[in-house]
Amino acid sequence: MSVREIKCPHCGKWTLWEGGLDDRCVNCNGFLETHEFSRGVERKARQEALKESGFLYIRPGDGPVKRFLKRFISAFRWLGIYLQVLFFIVVTIIIVLISLIPG
Ligand SMILES: [Zn+2]
Repeated sequence: MSVREIKCPHCGKWTLWEGGLDDRCVNCNGFLETHEFSRGVERKARQEALKESGFLYIRPGDGPVKRFLKRFISAFRWLGIYLQVLFFIVVTIIIVLISLIPG
């Protein structure tokens, strides 16, 4: 990484930037690459999601055990999502019932 002289996006003064995501301006102490920083986080999240779906993807070369495990894990994950939705619905019904009870 090389040190570059760039204009601070916050105060407009010249400052030194080493190319890091968390480098701060020497004048106002603001982050120099707020844009890069959020993009880096986003990229990381997307890579994680890609890795996960790649893991669960059933390839033609997978054996029956591997296929079964992958199906099982994805079914389990869907079950978790459904349970959350179900929980939300039950809570909503309870709230409605409580509001319907007179007194
Ligand atoms: Zn600054």
